Amino acid sequence: MHRAINFGAGPSAIPLDVLREAQEQFLDFNGSGLSIMEASHRSKLYEDVHNGAIALMRELYAIPEDYDVLFLQGGASLQFAMIPMNLSLGGKIQFADTGVWSSKAIKEAKIQGLNVEIVASSKESTYDHIPENIVFDDDADYAYITSNNTIYGTQYKNYPSTKAPLVVDASSDIFSYPIDWSKVDMMFAGAQKNAGPSGLTIVIIKKSLQSRVKESVPTMLRYSTYSAENSLYNTPPTFGIYMLGLTMKWIKKQGGIKAVQANNEKKAKLLYDAIDNSNGFYVGHSQKSSRSMMNVSFNIKDKNAELEGKLIKLSTQRDMIGLKGHRSVGGLRASIYNAMSIEGVQALVDLMQEFANENR
Ligand SMILES: *Cc1c(COP(=O)(O)O)cnc(C)c1O
Repeated sequence: MHRAINFGAGPSAIPLDVLREAQEQFLDFNGSGLSIMEASHRSKLYEDVHNGAIALMRELYAIPEDYDVLFLQGGASLQFAMIPMNLSLGGKIQFADTGVWSSKAIKEAKIQGLNVEIVASSKESTYDHIPENIVFDDDADYAYITSNNTIYGTQYKNYPSTKAPLVVDASSDIFSYPIDWSKVDMMFAGAQKNAGPSGLTIVIIKKSLQSRVKESVPTMLRYSTYSAENSLYNTPPTFGIYMLGLTMKWIKKQGGIKAVQANNEKKAKLLYDAIDNSNGFYVGHSQKSSRSMMNVSFNIKDKNAELEGKLIKLSTQRDMIGLKGHRSVGGLRASIYNAMSIEGVQALVDLMQEFANENR
């Protein structure tokens, strides 16, 4: 069997154990004679998968009782629009702008004609850090951050403390470290980076926030609809939820979120050490204090596009894929989500060291 080392930013690597289990059960799920994809979303067969995924999420991520776990579609991008529709009270909404994804969320709130304030931004320095000491007003309808900035490779080490409800886009770092839920009122993520295949959006939201929704918001765009029906108002993305459940089972087998976090820190250290010990051959995009454990964005000195292209080409010869950086930063980006192995990162580090020695 041939498996590439997948550094893609998303959709991205899924643990091999998860893919294998799905493969084994693909044609005949638990002796039912059906693929789980073919099962009614109202069947007992599927119901157990659905509720099992939620239960494991709650257990592993320590999600408190007064939060709902909801399954939606439309990606994280639909959340950019749904959040203001559901959480705005007509007052001000405050954002920290840490990159393309925050900017897109800001744009969707503005489209709705709402009073949008950007309280902190790192735009001036190509989003190379998380602004320090971000302060949101107590009386904001809600405060909004992007916990991990997939393109630039920056990540919050602590979420800002707010009186206003805090909304977190965790699309690229969900399930990679434990959450202090006393600081977070809503978290959401497209599943395709750290939790399963695309087509499923995870929303974890305090029950009490859901009554804010305005009369004019359509049924399918209300969190309360999903909450009232356990995300079964209409047909949910059943296969994605099944894969999410298998991914949760895999995290549990690794020893839980903390064990996964420790592994992530090891992987990130390997790569950042390779950058820092390259005598300036490699230059990380993020300032050190904001470095992401999930996406490592870097250039070759003087943003040498020719050498960067050469390194990417060499990487593909060693079966590594997805290393081309986002066009806004250029260079390379190694996405090292939960499913990336230490061995995969070591293979990249070896290549980087050889390449630096040959091209210095
Ligand atoms: C990928 C990503 C998104 C967009 O997700 P979609 O599911 O494609 O809409 C939003 N926010 C962050 C932080 C991301 O990494």
